[in-house]
Amino acid sequence: MPTISDIALERLDTTDPLRHKRAEFSLPDGVIYLDGNSLGVLPSAVKQRVQKTVEEEWGVSLIRGWNKHEWIDLPITVGNKIARLIGAEAGSVLAADSTSLNVAKAVFAAFSLNPERRVILSDSGNFPTDLYITQSVVAQMGEGYSLKIVAPDEVYDAIDETIAATLITEVDYRTGRKHDMAALTARAHDAGAIAVWDLCHSAGALEIDLTGVGADLAVGCSYKYLNGGPGSPAFIYVAPKHQKQVKPVLTGWMGHEKPFAFDLAYIPAEGIRRMAAGTPPVLALSALDAALDAWADVDMRQVREKSIALSELFIAEVEERCVGLGLELVSPRNAAERGSQISFRCADGYAVMQALIAHGVIGDFRAPDIIRFGFTPLYVGYHDVAKAAETLEMILKTKEWCKPIYRVQEKVT
Ligand SMILES: *Cc1c(COP(=O)(O)O)cnc(C)c1O
Repeated sequence: MPTISDIALERLDTTDPLRHKRAEFSLPDGVIYLDGNSLGVLPSAVKQRVQKTVEEEWGVSLIRGWNKHEWIDLPITVGNKIARLIGAEAGSVLAADSTSLNVAKAVFAAFSLNPERRVILSDSGNFPTDLYITQSVVAQMGEGYSLKIVAPDEVYDAIDETIAATLITEVDYRTGRKHDMAALTARAHDAGAIAVWDLCHSAGALEIDLTGVGADLAVGCSYKYLNGGPGSPAFIYVAPKHQKQVKPVLTGWMGHEKPFAFDLAYIPAEGIRRMAAGTPPVLALSALDAALDAWADVDMRQVREKSIALSELFIAEVEERCVGLGLELVSPRNAAERGSQISFRCADGYAVMQALIAHGVIGDFRAPDIIRFGFTPLYVGYHDVAKAAETLEMILKTKEWCKPIYRVQEKVT
């Protein structure tokens, strides 16, 4: 049984202050998309922008485009648009490379700001690439350097005077559990450690105040909630007070003080530009630049409020409709303690998700047994959420997921 009437759903959708944003996105008909936490939907403006960049800029201006169309400044101009969404100062965010690469840069930079210490602290809920990259960085740093991994709820107490830096992902990619950024950053500073934050599941999902919490460094990706497109450039933040001291590890020419002086010796650029390594990917950055314009008139507080309302409705609907069908909520029940996704443990989660996708509700599966649904308030409405819960109920009750076609394993899950 639904927990909410059609009339009440209709009222929620018609009074939604973000309702008009959906028209700015190119969503296929018949799809309820609850995977914007993995790959955001195409903003329509991106289509025109990419076409313009290819045909008018690259096609006509050729090499002159670097100056004429300010391609060379895209890492900074795009970085500034992201900065606004994460509570960062203008000039403190660079759009570049992948999150994985930026984790390497950030961890190395953190060591350069705290050279007496040798331990990076992270937690077992972190996304594996952050841990893999950090393991490699500490191995390259040499004798005595290490990565310490504790359970997410042990991070606070594990921050002591041995820790050079914490590397924490604010929102857990599997469960949506959210760390307290302000408290952990303050604790890191009390212990003389540098606070590095990974905002992959936070940027565009909730309010972030890097300046307010006093974060030292941060990284994040733009193809999830920021809708930059598959594999779009990531970002790196360095607090203004550290920008003169941080040592870049990938000392490429684009981070040089004067790239076009072609000096033999490397001198880092002033400011955030020193975190750049090579030539910026202009097509990808143009797409991201246009995608970010969708946020220009958006209040992150409204995004957060709607995200919570959608998530709460989804939990209520699923739990009411799917009693005794083997689902267990693994996301925190308290909305203040989670990001913008809801996950359930489900024994045959892979097949259940494949069946859901075949029936027009796209979420995803995370091994070993989690089905995950992301809520992106710019283009998901209350009716979508209720319909998704109804479809999940149908798939579980009819055992639709038992069909062999839903068990075929694909490369990307
Ligand atoms: C999505 C995600 C990444 C992805 O890294 P890529 O280099 O873009 O593949 C990294 N870290 C976290 C926490 C993520 O959620």
